[in-house]
Amino acid sequence: MASKSLKQRLEEVTTGSVLDHIKTVVFVYVVLTRLVKVERHLRARGIATTFLEFWTWLNKNLLLFALRCLPAQRKKAEADIAKAKLTIESKLVPQGEAVTRHTSLPAKGHYPEWILNEMGKMDNEIGHAEWKHGKISGAVYHGGDDLTKVIVAAFERYCVSNPLHPDVFPAVRKMEAEIVAMCLRMYNNPTGAGVTTSGGTESIIMSVKTHRDWARATKGITEPEMIVPDTAHAAFDKAAAYFNIKVHTMPVDRATRKVDLNRVSWAINPNTIMLVGSAINFPDGCQDDIVALGKLAQKHHIGMHVDCCLGSFIMPFLEPAGFPVEPFDFRVDGVTAISCDTHKYGFAPKGSSVIMYRNAELRQYQYYVNPSWTGGLYASPSIAGSRPGSIIAGTWAAMQYVGYDGYLKSCREIVGAAKTIAARIKSEFGGKLYVLGNPPASVVAFSSYNPRCSIHEVGDIISHKGWHLNGIVRPDAIHIAVTRLTVPVVDTFIADLHDAVKEAELNPSGKGTMVQLYGLGKVAGALAPSISSQIATAFIDTLYKA
Ligand SMILES: *Cc1c(COP(=O)(O)O)cnc(C)c1O
Repeated sequence: MASKSLKQRLEEVTTGSVLDHIKTVVFVYVVLTRLVKVERHLRARGIATTFLEFWTWLNKNLLLFALRCLPAQRKKAEADIAKAKLTIESKLVPQGEAVTRHTSLPAKGHYPEWILNEMGKMDNEIGHAEWKHGKISGAVYHGGDDLTKVIVAAFERYCVSNPLHPDVFPAVRKMEAEIVAMCLRMYNNPTGAGVTTSGGTESIIMSVKTHRDWARATKGITEPEMIVPDTAHAAFDKAAAYFNIKVHTMPVDRATRKVDLNRVSWAINPNTIMLVGSAINFPDGCQDDIVALGKLAQKHHIGMHVDCCLGSFIMPFLEPAGFPVEPFDFRVDGVTAISCDTHKYGFAPKGSSVIMYRNAELRQYQYYVNPSWTGGLYASPSIAGSRPGSIIAGTWAAMQYVGYDGYLKSCREIVGAAKTIAARIKSEFGGKLYVLGNPPASVVAFSSYNPRCSIHEVGDIISHKGWHLNGIVRPDAIHIAVTRLTVPVVDTFIADLHDAVKEAELNPSGKGTMVQLYGLGKVAGALAPSISSQIATAFIDTLYKA
């Protein structure tokens, strides 16, 4: 066998070293990109939070592991969950043989009279919460019979319509365009663009999708991240979960309840697609510093969504109604999108919201277009294909019926009532209760100074007086979203709150559903998130029990 020539040997050595070089380069590249990721994560979350997140994760997994090895503990946890499931079921699903269940189609169709009669029977048999007395936070925002009649008339006329076929239902197309135009004008962007959606969640999901696709097309971002205040609506996390976007949750200031701008600024990196601010937020009804967030967004050339889902038809009327208000709409530089729920303070039927963009160019990133579908060229603006034209007609009708003067009047009354509640909590419960931040609009959240008087227990006691309020966390508090129906019962609310606080102080039991759900966290320690997730899952399962 001939020995290798010098040339052959030289080739071996160089290919070998080229391979080694490539390996080294790839290795360094991988290490560097990982380091960049770690650095960005640390910048966004801070060292303490990162450590805390890791610690919680470790604890949870150690406990889950321990549970697997400790049958007695596991049985107890399983029994707790089973008990909670039964409680939920007994509350939601009518029990017993007396209840008629319709779980298969009737062999023959019923007469209309039978149907309405059966609905009446259901209401009587399984009961329903009274909402007309106004002891409910949010939920029903107008509730007047006159408006209901107008909406039902619009429903009837456009019952079968579908904006997917604008040639068949041209009036529905026109009404949808006009709803968007009216909202854009209210939010001071008449040259902007928008679409209607099925609700605030869809509006937010669409905005996140739009900014993601915009960032991918214009900046090549393939690992998108977004920066969201702790007080922003869960719909942003939901959107991020659907679209696989990394969320950095930013703390809010304890006193003002506005998102910490320094932290937001630190969290921005080349993968950031958008910032989020609320006007107003759901948990405590406060507003983020939209001007400062807009400035940051502009500086970094990223999107900025203002969530006015709840602020809807209240925020734009604060100024004309004479209430103090900080800038929140498209007049703020850097704001690229605003969501506004027509089905909240717009008094439209449920299933109606608007997502608005600074311009029509940005809106195009929301569309879905499939030019090669076997069913023909397919294009749709939002998540749904077919959509209810009746909801659009009902929304248009509500806006025409209430009008500028009607919304102005309801803003005066509703925000006036909310401010009265906040002022009376401050003056009459001084030293016991405090209001979170300085809420500018229709929602007031309050908590307890006294650790022995649990605010969730107060919420539980006041619920026995017929009130349906919302319990929130970080800090533990209760909120009330004032509606047109709440306005007349402000005095009753304050009186009932006095009684509830007294009762909670006299014999703190640490029990009750509002507390129990959160109390479970205290019992189960680090396991709480996984257990409450299981209970929430059971809750949704229960909704589908016939
Ligand atoms: C209600 C609300 C949403 C979501 O609205 P849905 O209509 O329930 O989907 C989003 N943000 C805020 C601040 C809200 O209050």
